[in-house]
Amino acid sequence: MSIPHNIYIHVPFCISKCNYCAFFSRAISPDWDCYATQILSEVDFWAQRLGRVSVPTIFFGGGTPSLMPTKIFNKIIKHISEKFDLQNCSEITLESNPGTLDETKLREFIDCGLTRLSVGVQSFDDDELKFLGRQHDAATAIKILESAQSMNINVSADFIYGLPGHNVRHIISVCDKINQIGLKHASLYELTIEKNTPFGQMNLSMPNNDEMADMYLAIEKNLNLPRYEVSNYATNENICVHNKNVWLGGAYIGLGHGARGRVFMNNAWFEQYGGDIKYQKIDDDTRALERIITGLRTIYGVALDDKTKNILDIDFIKNNNDLVQIKDNRLIATNKGILILDDLLVNLTR
Ligand code: SF4
Repeated sequence: MSIPHNIYIHVPFCISKCNYCAFFSRAISPDWDCYATQILSEVDFWAQRLGRVSVPTIFFGGGTPSLMPTKIFNKIIKHISEKFDLQNCSEITLESNPGTLDETKLREFIDCGLTRLSVGVQSFDDDELKFLGRQHDAATAIKILESAQSMNINVSADFIYGLPGHNVRHIISVCDKINQIGLKHASLYELTIEKNTPFGQMNLSMPNNDEMADMYLAIEKNLNLPRYEVSNYATNENICVHNKNVWLGGAYIGLGHGARGRVFMNNAWFEQYGGDIKYQKIDDDTRALERIITGLRTIYGVALDDKTKNILDIDFIKNNNDLVQIKDNRLIATNKGILILDDLLVNLTR
């Protein structure tokens, strides 16, 4: 049986490294033809194994995919369309950084099939952007958001909160600005300090857990967009289809160094790595646990089927209605449960 596979393409290149960043990316100017050759050969590899499966979404993540020349983007999309079935492909997303994309280049991306732009804005404060190690200012970010909004595509922006000195007042002002710009999708991530980053060496004085929780709750109260995942807010029409598919347990192929995927072939699930093209079988319990972890992050929850029920502690669920609830045979975390999701997952599974 073949099922649809979403495609994630990792573009691991940036202008420079941000002070908080632990993503797989390098500050180099790559040989784009060489990069495209690699991606195309991975497309061929998976087309041979999976056949001409339907591809509902394509997502270029990074790194900084907006650095990619549009002719390389076009070449990759064209090749995917030759090897897979794009008839039901409803979304092609590109992650971008302000300053790497102007209106002309954005139009070219759209002409090649782009339907959704995600912009790494991170902050509306120029001093904060410098502190984060970003290479752009707030005005440049707002300009590309406004250009994209005028081009009939879905537009999203990423923000980071919980920097030293941040409080509820700060997050309310960010929400106000997002409302004012009229964004229909926004991702607001709490700053986490990773060891092997410049921030990891700086002994920063971070807001405590209660302050972080207050800021998190303030987002839902002040943003004009409903939450559909722990850190993601959007109107119904602007929900990221790619991420939703992945979070709800859909299959996806990861292409390029640093990418990972979950492919379904020969009636089994495989964990798969882009770049060196490695893959290994994953057992039913591992796959069910992944679906529970990602599904509970969303407002849709996770389906209660034989595979998930096999590892869930049903008694715990029945006794903790304030944290998790069953609706239409799906297990969904409540607002209270979302706040303690990591602990909840430990107790929820056997
Ligand atoms: S632009 Fe994104 S991927 Fe690149 S270094 Fe900054 S945070 Fe990391």
